[in-house]
Amino acid sequence: MKVIGLIGGMSWNSTLEYYRIINESVAQRLGGLHSARLVLYNLDFDEIQRAQHEGRWDDTAGILVDAGNAVKRAGADFLVICTNTMHKVADDVEETVGLPLLHIVDVIGDAVRERELHRIGLLGTRFLMEGHFYQERLRDRFAIEVLAPGEDDIHTIHQIIYSELCEGKIKASSRRVCADIISKLINNGAEGIVLGCTELPLLVRPSEIHAPVFDTTRLHAEAAVNLALAEG
Ligand code: GLU
Repeated sequence: MKVIGLIGGMSWNSTLEYYRIINESVAQRLGGLHSARLVLYNLDFDEIQRAQHEGRWDDTAGILVDAGNAVKRAGADFLVICTNTMHKVADDVEETVGLPLLHIVDVIGDAVRERELHRIGLLGTRFLMEGHFYQERLRDRFAIEVLAPGEDDIHTIHQIIYSELCEGKIKASSRRVCADIISKLINNGAEGIVLGCTELPLLVRPSEIHAPVFDTTRLHAEAAVNLALAEG
């Protein structure tokens, strides 16, 4: 079994889900008392979110590179960045650290294409929604078109993520707000919904959504297990 190198803490609430899903999945696949071989570097999210909000993306990349080098020294065979947003700097991190990185967009692209969908609605932080790296990678590598919520809805989701979910607050009122935003995306032609923030699965219940829902936390964590258990 390969050693998974997790760069987490963005926020720790979703990293906990990665840790749980990865270990549960290894136990399920290998049985008995098996658990994952992994190294976790948990970052101080306050430092990251300050740099994000001040547009200092080079600083965030530097912090992730230091974490990546640390997990590499500790024996990790590949890197998993436990957030969608910070994949904005994933290519830099992969190149500088010199370990293969399991890119979250590639995992999601594969999952969406497996369901034979071509147009998805994307929910995530403002940085993710207003940036282009996520949308362009889905388009260029997987021919998937991305529908985004309107500007006000992007702002609302951003607030829910940073002021509630990343602090571990799960509110029924915010669950309804997200469901309404998702309904608008489906009415506008989205064939599936990508929860493009690793905390959103803590809030959104797929059973209440009338379209396939792609949980990026679960998909990314399970893909990490597939890679860890793959031959060679
Ligand atoms: N975990 C979130 C994501 O998947 C947001 C936190 C962050 O900015 O990294 O995008």
